[in-house]
Amino acid sequence: MATLVSSFISALPKISISIPFVTGSKDSEPKPEGVVPISVNYFPHRLCNYSCDFCFHTTKNLKILPIEDAKYALLLLAQAGMKKLNISGGEPFLKPDFIGEIFRYCKEELHIESCSIVNNGSKVTEKWLDTYGEHLDVMAISCDSFDPETNLRQGRSENGKPGHIDRVFEVADWCHKRGIKVKINTVVTVHNWNEDMIDSIRQLNPCRWKVFQCLLLDGENTGAETGSLRDARRLLITSEQFQAFLDYHKELDCLIPESNEAMKDSYLLLDEDMCFLNCQDGNKISGRSILQVGVEEALKDAGFDEKQFIDRKGIFDWKKDVKDQSDGSLDW
Ligand code: SF4
Repeated sequence: MATLVSSFISALPKISISIPFVTGSKDSEPKPEGVVPISVNYFPHRLCNYSCDFCFHTTKNLKILPIEDAKYALLLLAQAGMKKLNISGGEPFLKPDFIGEIFRYCKEELHIESCSIVNNGSKVTEKWLDTYGEHLDVMAISCDSFDPETNLRQGRSENGKPGHIDRVFEVADWCHKRGIKVKINTVVTVHNWNEDMIDSIRQLNPCRWKVFQCLLLDGENTGAETGSLRDARRLLITSEQFQAFLDYHKELDCLIPESNEAMKDSYLLLDEDMCFLNCQDGNKISGRSILQVGVEEALKDAGFDEKQFIDRKGIFDWKKDVKDQSDGSLDW
């Protein structure tokens, strides 16, 4: 497959992508048929060095595509209207050159508007940022608590080692200095739903603070009886507890809440084989691969709710902070 795809790509003319409209545009504007994959979340592999109890994309295999195959699928997505690519995991920075080259390709050759990454912060290096940071718009770092004990209790650590919080601040600082937007992702569970995070979030100064209600997915985090590697059932909070967390932090403009309902079906999730993951039935079912059936057919398997995507503010100002680079301290 890799060789075939590579020769196909090198034979391609330089593409000029015309971006179609998303649902929700004005009535007078032409609308595309079917779903436009405007914002795609790609999970290139499932390997992770952390062991968060609530994880819903666990290390069930060690696969990763040959990079030329991954690029070909991204080319097809760009032609279908993708404007933003988010890479998540597993811990994506365990394959630093792979993700760096994917971002370079998306920005320089596909002219994608925005590239972002969700990671736990532990494997980011300044060397990587100096090499590939010019192609990255948003760095999302996962941090559920500013109490070291709480992070350890949730499994948000490498082999039980402390240090996650310092690392989050360090990576955020590196990104701010390079004009890369910082986002913080927090999962709310029984361990942190009554924590005061206001001062720490202010110090981190993220463009968005995504606050997720702990979510169960069969086959990932609902215990051995569903074939899961994790069990998050004892971490679940009620809707009232989640709302109490949101109310307490409502003075922070950057807070974007995501209840289980808002999360459900509002993401286009692409697995390590370039198959969309369908979560409609409370688990994650892989569809057919883009590499085998193309984007239009693969999207039919995704169970994606475009209205939910718009409602949860899935489209935002997702480009790098140009103003932050005006002091001339950066090469890009
Ligand atoms: S950091 Fe935690 S939630 Fe993220 S992939 Fe690793 S184990 Fe899962």
